[in-house]
Amino acid sequence: MGKRPQLKNIRRLVIKVGTRVLTGEDNLILRPRIDHLASQVGQLMERGITVVLVSSGAVGAGLGEMGLRSYPRLIPNRQALASIGQVQLMKIWEHAFANYGKLVGQVLVTAGDFQNRKSYVNLQNTFESLFRLGVVPVVNENDSVAVRELRYGDNDALSAQVAGIVDAPLLVVLTDTDGVYTANPRNDPEAKRISVVDYITPELTRATKGKGSEVSIGGMRTKILAAGLVTQAGKYCAIASGADCDLVSLLEGKDLGTLFLPRADGLKRRKHWIAFTSRSRGKLLVDEGARSALTRKGSSLLSSGIREIVGRFETGDVVEIACGEEQPAFAKGVTSYSAEDLERIKGLHSSRIEEVLGHGGPGEVVHKDNLVLINTEQ
Ligand code: GLU
Repeated sequence: MGKRPQLKNIRRLVIKVGTRVLTGEDNLILRPRIDHLASQVGQLMERGITVVLVSSGAVGAGLGEMGLRSYPRLIPNRQALASIGQVQLMKIWEHAFANYGKLVGQVLVTAGDFQNRKSYVNLQNTFESLFRLGVVPVVNENDSVAVRELRYGDNDALSAQVAGIVDAPLLVVLTDTDGVYTANPRNDPEAKRISVVDYITPELTRATKGKGSEVSIGGMRTKILAAGLVTQAGKYCAIASGADCDLVSLLEGKDLGTLFLPRADGLKRRKHWIAFTSRSRGKLLVDEGARSALTRKGSSLLSSGIREIVGRFETGDVVEIACGEEQPAFAKGVTSYSAEDLERIKGLHSSRIEEVLGHGGPGEVVHKDNLVLINTEQ
């Protein structure tokens, strides 16, 4: 476990607030919580720190507004609730920030907005304009229009993307526990809060499996995955309690929540783009040996470890790397060979590439400099 650093030099941060922080038992929005958060953000802004809020709670607030207790099964019904709740959510944020003389700007996004280069740059410019105007951007997924393929589903993943797009060195995820524990503190009295995480081990990810609640989508697991993305991009991530958060003290280095340290091998811009924004065009299914070489040794992917190719793609496209078609990808990278060429060289030793294809090419199918691990739990 590493030492807790001071975060005093941080001038920009993204704060993600979960549904369970913002809504109570009856699904109604807890105004005092929002007021407290707005006061915290106000204090940070007074110190010249730029803040983006990623606020969940639209579906939850929609349930509360309609007097419903359970989460609807049908997607259009959930989308309708999100559209009702989003209005309530923004009204309350607007009101809370008005006490500090700040305006809020609603930014609703879907995963597609981050994958398309044009809309990515557009969105980036919108954020920068809002910052110049001194307005607090309040971001949520555009739940009432997002379709399954272009949906994050949980705002933990979304907030990691937002930290990337605004280039914030810190993401603070506020939730209903005061950090990550060695075991589930709800049923294990021995569980201890982890103060600093310098490396997210597969054991840590596994220990935090399980979902939060019906309405709030993510649990601790999606938060750790988000922390993994953020720290790989060379940024800090803190997971802390949203009930009584003290962000000023957190930045002063007080031992609050769990702080994930940036990976020393933080990705450069290119890797950042691969991890956060690029859209993959296909999938490479690899064997166990290749997976272990990539995840444990940080090696490049060679043709010999590839078993199957899914999709059509060209040289230079981004592809996902997984062990099976139904399994989640554990890495993403830029392929040096097209799907067509890979069909012919899969499983072969690199020394045979030229002979089989009739033309030369790099020894690696995905070079380690073009490869990013995206899921540490496997
Ligand atoms: N976007 C969803 C909402 O506002 C929440 C997703 C999440 O809980 O992570 O209701």
